[in-house]
Amino acid sequence: MLILPPATIGILGSGQLGRMLALAARRSGYRIHVFSPEANSPAGQVADREFVAAYDDLAAVRDFARSVDVVTYEFENVPLATAETCAAIVPLRPGPQALRVAQNRLREKTFFVENGLPTVPFAAVHSLTDLQTGLAQIGCPALLKTAVSGYDGKGQIKLNHPDEAAGAWQAVGEVDCILEGWVAFERELSMVAARDVNGRIAHYNLIENSHANHILDVSVAPANVPPPVLAQAEAMVQTVLTALDVVGVLCVEFFLTPTPGRLLLNEIAPRPHNSGHLTIEACVTSQFEQQLRTVCGLPVGDTTYLRPAAMANLLGDLWSFSYEETEEQKGERKISAKSAKSVDKNRTPNWPAVLTHPHRKLHLYGKESARPGRKMGHLTALASSAAEAEKIVRGARRRLETGD
Ligand code: AMP
Repeated sequence: MLILPPATIGILGSGQLGRMLALAARRSGYRIHVFSPEANSPAGQVADREFVAAYDDLAAVRDFARSVDVVTYEFENVPLATAETCAAIVPLRPGPQALRVAQNRLREKTFFVENGLPTVPFAAVHSLTDLQTGLAQIGCPALLKTAVSGYDGKGQIKLNHPDEAAGAWQAVGEVDCILEGWVAFERELSMVAARDVNGRIAHYNLIENSHANHILDVSVAPANVPPPVLAQAEAMVQTVLTALDVVGVLCVEFFLTPTPGRLLLNEIAPRPHNSGHLTIEACVTSQFEQQLRTVCGLPVGDTTYLRPAAMANLLGDLWSFSYEETEEQKGERKISAKSAKSVDKNRTPNWPAVLTHPHRKLHLYGKESARPGRKMGHLTALASSAAEAEKIVRGARRRLETGD
């Protein structure tokens, strides 16, 4: 059954991904209801109705589900009971199985192995003894990651020596973890794709990602990879989408290893992804429009890139940018060389530097407080080559920082 405008789309979660879905949906005359514990949220600000309640308030979840025609989610840590409560009332897309796999790193990596998908060496860790055994098998360096609720490098510890096991086990809070072998990858890539109710799949071309402090920093597309790598990624993404019976959008993150052309799966997200934000300007159908289409039972849209593109994240740090002071300034303020960085807490980024430029696109998510590491917005640029787009977007972000 097609879900057509002015039907109401329900979103679990209310961050920037929900906001961009809501904006795409409103353009086509759909209504949006969001559910999260936060009021005046990025998605709530542009929704028709904001349900503010705890995820485990199942009576409120039921009210929300009864008010919409379909439910989707914008982050994978939605509690399963919340998702299943919705699914008993209206279609939940993607279904609970995608959520179940994506919200636990151990289940996720086990799912890869069971489906013949290459991934990093790993071991399950439920105790210090498991960690020591795992380190003996996998070797160092290795990464200890909490099995649930880790993102952007949170809940991750690198171990360079087996002696560090006890300290690391304590530092993660002695909770269920996964131990992963350290991958000396050449590049990080991601592929966003969608699958419709009839099982048709549409892939976007590969995106190349660079991270800073474990947080996505810059994405560039299409990634410059040999055709066999692209074909390999498409085949693996197809396996994931089909095995999880996904109706909706899903992103797979890969490591490209030095072994020529070998891709390893890192993780999956059954929703649009930060690396896919550039599809808003660069593609015929953005990842958010694609999410809208597929959850509404429409066929997948055209994923062609109209132009190469690059995206740079704008983190809260930009609002309190620290800059190196000259020797002269240091002298005047009588600060030691050790504290040579100065922080201006009330700084406003230099918006005219990007907004007055005809080819730069600014996205801000409406978040009130800018904390370091918090994703506040992003910049996108299109150009005649991906390298040129990257240069433009990095330069534009620098101008936001420096005010030049
Ligand atoms: P994750 O949250 O698992 O995607 O990790 C965040 C980032 O940490 C990744 O994008 C990589 O840059 C890095 N990372 C994660 N796992 C590994 C690994 N097994 N080996 C090397 N780097 C990793």
